[in-house]
Amino acid sequence: MSVTRPAAFLDRDGTINEDAGYIDRLERLVLFPFAIDAIRLLRRAGYLVVVVTNQAGVAKGLYSEAFVDETRRFLEEQCARGDTQLDGHYYCPHSPDADVPEYRRECDCRKPMPGMALQAARDLNIDLSRSVVVGDRWRDIAVARHVGARAILVRTGYGATEELHPPPGVAPDAVCNNLIDAVVWLLDHPVTDAAARH
Ligand SMILES: [Mg+2]
Ligand SMILES: [Zn+2]
Repeated sequence: MSVTRPAAFLDRDGTINEDAGYIDRLERLVLFPFAIDAIRLLRRAGYLVVVVTNQAGVAKGLYSEAFVDETRRFLEEQCARGDTQLDGHYYCPHSPDADVPEYRRECDCRKPMPGMALQAARDLNIDLSRSVVVGDRWRDIAVARHVGARAILVRTGYGATEELHPPPGVAPDAVCNNLIDAVVWLLDHPVTDAAARH
């Protein structure tokens, strides 16, 4: 029997960094000032921190997978400077209407599909029932509902607009102003075994 750990699955654009449309240059990846502190606090609270991000810009030919890898390294560098780290980084480069043929597909990783969280759970031995997804779009919340994790909608990025238009059947556990507020909420609402959903 192996020990499983909870994870905080963090959306990237609009959650960790300002949403600047398709981020195709490193200069456009502007981290929220609290982002690294939030990641460090999550890890100290026992969560693995895993970035899960749709990057359809790859499918649209706006930037390459190598560039997405560059953004991952940038995030990791910023984490290291803040005395923390990422435990995983997953992205979906696909789109059903991709301009680049090799990325044109109905995949199971593009949020709201749960493929990235499921893959991370296998790779990192994650207990999904004690995990949480934090994001600024309803499709982030849908991932949590698919995998039986908790879900927090943040009002940064598209979140404030998304909050006004909740889709049927996809309710978050909390709506918070931003990622650091979401961390505070999590620390204040620990998962008990009885509260674990599955
Ligand atoms: Mg987002
Ligand atoms: Zn995909």
